Amino acid sequence: MIPGPIEFDPSVLEKMGQPTLSHVAPAFIESFGRALEMMRNVWLAPNGQPFIVAGSGTLAMDMAGANLIEVGDNVLVVSTGYFGERYAELLKRYGASVTFLQAEVGDVVPLETVETELAKGKYKLMTFTHVDTSTSVLVDAKAMGALAQKYNVLSILDGVCSVAGEEIRQEEWGIDVVVTASQKAVGVPPGLALLVASEKAMNVWVNRKTPVGNYFCDWSLWLPIMKAYEARNPSYFATPPINLIQALETSLELIIEEGMDARFARHERLAKKFREEMRALGMDFIPTSEAVQANTLTAPYYPEGVNGGEFLGKVGQNGVVIAGGLLPSHKTQYFRVGHMGIVSDEHIDRTVAAIKAAFN
Ligand code: PMP
Repeated sequence: MIPGPIEFDPSVLEKMGQPTLSHVAPAFIESFGRALEMMRNVWLAPNGQPFIVAGSGTLAMDMAGANLIEVGDNVLVVSTGYFGERYAELLKRYGASVTFLQAEVGDVVPLETVETELAKGKYKLMTFTHVDTSTSVLVDAKAMGALAQKYNVLSILDGVCSVAGEEIRQEEWGIDVVVTASQKAVGVPPGLALLVASEKAMNVWVNRKTPVGNYFCDWSLWLPIMKAYEARNPSYFATPPINLIQALETSLELIIEEGMDARFARHERLAKKFREEMRALGMDFIPTSEAVQANTLTAPYYPEGVNGGEFLGKVGQNGVVIAGGLLPSHKTQYFRVGHMGIVSDEHIDRTVAAIKAAFN
């Protein structure tokens, strides 16, 4: 029950364990093509360009940054914790001039503050973290997308801890790039960097004046590969992670079978149920209000007098693995429980029981 990697569906793991095919085998070409097509359904971006590349979520962030930034571009990074800081550092490597808006711990940057900044008219791009896994703070992605549209600024949503768990309607909400990784709510073991880019983002990339400063991330090398597999043609730039992509096909099928609205609702219901149980034990949370609580993980403060290390150890002995704090300033004061992907009532009940037993 950590906030990624999560527990995976047995059928996904079974797919992972099959003999590895050639990257040009017809069965693999079909899997890759279908996975790309299904990403559009899960991201709710019917006209988006999906990319599936070997790597982690940080590589997905890097790919978006490398292709959209040119030296001197002004970027607004709206941060709700650890991963916002990462995006700012990453974009600086490509020569971006970064303005960094940091939320108070447990809160979001007020929309008015974001708007005041965007209204200065100097920004090419804005990034924000949908759910920061260090704080479990949820940002209003719809409102942020609307602001980016209003000021004609490209938007990148770090959805590593949200895609396929939190509601995201990429195209309807006007978000240009939504990046994630396989190991969280998408439900595939670690190793895939996943992103979908809007037509607007692809046009900005096409019209770059300078070459992309990162060889492995360059869309001019990857776009022909994605197009070829989607057209069911063999192709090669760098060896794809065959087993992971086949497992992704299986997981995306399961997600689509559940239905996106049902999936968002399940995550919300189970998150609320877990928080209520923690509240009943007298615990408070890093997020300062219910309105900014994520549905993919919860970050409760340890009750008075509880030793975090000992507590996590006891919960582990009770058969449930949960995570410690991540935000450096509050690390020893709170813990984190992930509830995404195939999470069910039974997972929540067992986790609550293990936590209760650890207090006795
Ligand atoms: N952004 C967020 C919100 C994350 O939670 C994480 C991983 N925990 C990352 C980015 C980085 O992803 P990865 O560890 O897969 O590189």
